[in-house]
This record gives sequence, C-alpha cells and structure tokens, in this order.
Amino acid sequence: AEAAAAELREACAAPAAERVVAELREACVAPAARLNEVAAAMEAEMRAGLREEGGSNVKMIISYVDNLPTGNEEGVFYALDLGGTNFRVLRVHLAGKDKRVAKRESKEVSIPPHLMSGNASELFGFIASALAKYIASEGHSNVFDDKQRELGFTFSFPVRQTSIASGTLIKWTKAFSIDDAVGEDVVAELQTAMEKQGVDMHVAALINDTVGTLAAGRYNDEDVVIGVILGTGSNAAYVEEASAIPKLEGELPKSGNMVINTEWGNFDSSCLPITEYDQALDEESLNPGEQIFEKLISGMYLGEIVRRVLHKIASQSSIFGNVSHTKLKTRFILRTPDISAMHHDDTPDLRIVAEKLADNLKIMDTSLDTRKMVVEICDIVTSRSARLAAAGIVGILRKIGRAVPGDGRRSVVAIDGGLFEHYAEFRKCLESTLVELLGEEASRSLVVKLTKDGSGLGAALIAAAHSQPQH
Ligand code: BGC
Ligand code: MG
Repeated sequence: AEAAAAELREACAAPAAERVVAELREACVAPAARLNEVAAAMEAEMRAGLREEGGSNVKMIISYVDNLPTGNEEGVFYALDLGGTNFRVLRVHLAGKDKRVAKRESKEVSIPPHLMSGNASELFGFIASALAKYIASEGHSNVFDDKQRELGFTFSFPVRQTSIASGTLIKWTKAFSIDDAVGEDVVAELQTAMEKQGVDMHVAALINDTVGTLAAGRYNDEDVVIGVILGTGSNAAYVEEASAIPKLEGELPKSGNMVINTEWGNFDSSCLPITEYDQALDEESLNPGEQIFEKLISGMYLGEIVRRVLHKIASQSSIFGNVSHTKLKTRFILRTPDISAMHHDDTPDLRIVAEKLADNLKIMDTSLDTRKMVVEICDIVTSRSARLAAAGIVGILRKIGRAVPGDGRRSVVAIDGGLFEHYAEFRKCLESTLVELLGEEASRSLVVKLTKDGSGLGAALIAAAHSQPQH
C-alpha cells in the first residue's frame, strides 16, 4: 500500500518536476554551433589578453617559463603543490634522459577549512611547518648537508608573475578567501614562513598547476602543447610564440616561446548557456561575478548545481514525498563525486542513486522513474560542463593553429584533475565533443592524455631548469 501511495503521489507530482527538468535541458543545451561561438569568443579574449595587461577577463598571464623540460634534468628537487583541497610536499629525484624520474615521494595533507579563509601568515605557516616536518623525516644522511635545497612552488590561483620565482596574488578562487594575501608576493610570504620554521630552501620557481601539467606532459611527450586542469577549479596553459604576445616587454626569450597561463576560469561571454541556478550559485559564492566559466565546468560546482535543481524540484512538486528541505537547502552538500556515482549507477533499480539521495539529502523513498530523472539531471549538468571545456580547448587549438585542417602535426593536450580522472562520463563527453568540433580528419592528430600529478612533478622539473648553480 505504501508503494502504491508513493506511485500515486509521484504520478501527480511528475508533470511539475518534468517541467523543471525540461527547462534545465533547454537552458543548458550546447549544440556544436553554440560551442563554436564559445571557442571563437575564447580565442578573441585570448588575443585581447595578450595585447595588453587587463585587456580581457581572460588574463593570459606570462609565466616566465620559456623552456619546457627536455628529459635531461638531473638532481633532487622539491615541490609544494597548493591549489584545491589538499596540499602536497614532493621530493623528486631526476636522473636524466634514460632513467628519468628515479624516485618520487610525496606527502599529502588536507588543508584545515578554517585556514582557507583566515589570514595569510596562518596559511603559509601551515605550509612551511608541513615542509619542515617532511624534511625532518628525511633524516641526516642525505645529500643536502652542504647544499641548499631547491624548491618549485605550485600555487594554483591567479598570480601576476613578476619573474620565474615571484608574483603577486591577483585574487583567490575556489574555496579560498584570505583578504590580506591579495596583492602580496606569495613567494615572499612562503619564504618568511619558512624562515620562521628554520627551513632553508631556495624557491627556484613559482608556477600555476596548468603550467606544471604542461611541463610534466612535455617531459614525457614532446608534442604536448597544452596543459589543462579539470578538477576543483579549471584552467589551461599553452605554449605561445613570444612574437605573438604584444604585452611581453623587453628582450624576447631565446627559445622564441613563452608559456601562457590563460586563467580561462574567468572567461565570460553572452554565448555561454547560463541558467537561473548558475546565477544564484554565483551570487551566493565567495567571488560573485568572477570565474563564470569555472563555475559552469569545474568539480567544485557541478554537484552544487545539481543540488540547486533538486531543491527547486522539491519546492515545486511533491515528487520526493514529504521531504525536509534542511539538507536540500544546504550549499555544497552534494559533491561532484556524489553526482558521478549516481551518473554511473548501473544497478537495474538505481540503488546507488537511492542511497545517495537518502544519505546526502534525506530524500528517502523514490520511484525508479524519479531516480532516472535524477540521473538525467546529472547528465545535463555534466554534459554541458564537458562540452564547454572541449570548446575552451578548441579555442586554444585554433589560436595556435593546431589540430585544424591542414595541420598534420601531432598535438597532445595534457589534462589533470579529479573531474577528468574520475568522472568517466565527463571524460567521454569531453573527448567526443573535441572530435565533433574539430572534425574526424583534424582530430586524428590530437591526443588527450591524463597527466597525473603533473602539477607537482612539473614544479620540480621547472625548479630544476631554474635552480642555482651548485657548488
Ligand atoms: C585558478 C587557476 C587554477 C585552476 C585549477 C582556478 O580556480 O584560478 O589558477 O589553475 O583553478 O586549479
Ligand atoms: Mg591540484
């Protein structure tokens, strides 16, 4: 009788719920024509950002990395990787052309949430103390008794680089918001914190995680031209011709190239498919009006968009039964790994969807049709994300004349980040959209490669290239 009641209830509520889903589907639709507009707008913004400082909301940051790893790098180097929710210390032994990475060790520490919105000295103090502990755990019998250790610092936020090893924080993104760090030199902050901890290291390079991913990708494959992060946040870096960067001052680098950190997360355009949910999410975010592209595509936000849709359905229909809205109203309670689990549920009765709805949102008894509807919502939100990310990549490829008709060169895009690595439907959709946009022919020369831990290894590699001559 209970099941029959649920069915009757849902039958009455279904039209209202279906209307919400139909409107969502309509608002998120991103056919190839629309994506080509997005790619063209991305390319135009990239050009504007290269022309002059502040020329575009796509910042096109000059990384000062004008040479990518060759494979010949040698020595032991350290890296710090700060970006999403975790923070890592790495130690990498590079052993040259044949042996490559002879040894790689790392320690991951999760960042206590209160540090993400506290003050700069607390955050950098935490980082430096983790580094101090790591070094202490190495013991005494190591090669650094009379040499200064060299460190590459991956700091995955928009930074106005002033040299290869210095730069000021433009703004925070993702879940970080520490006012007194904005405008400060993050390497100076780190160095001060290291001194307090008695850590004597030389920061040889300050890089973005996309630049690290590009470098690590290139270390293993010389055709890598773009590095992309699809994780908590999203961004891309690529190799640009120095002569195509009007805002680059002074002498052109000998290599003729310069890695550009696009900061595409801040891209915004009237051609983006934006819904009421995105608008509300943005307004209530830590950084309203900013990182609009990132808020449509990255892992920090996808679960939250789905949560907002479900909340709307619950308030417009009784399809979820007599559900309390307490959980449904709670921001970020549904995470992207949760929607990934629901999206990939292959049990015949969608048991995982039922579990996730119950555990995360206290939506207790749903019919199979309702659970299918939830899967569809995940699919709509994730497909839009993957298709927009593909359009962004196509924008960069067109800017540099890669994987376009007539270009026979092999081009590799190195991608890292949990969204790409763990969300299979996302990845599948991203890859098929690339083929759809570039065409069968041109996309044959394109390779998309998962480059795990690129940001850490990349920092060590770039530190190696910029380390002080050892005595
Ligand atoms: C930051 C980028 C970073 C990306 C991925 C974005 O929020 O602005 O600097 O590369 O996240 O971590
Ligand atoms: Mg990272």
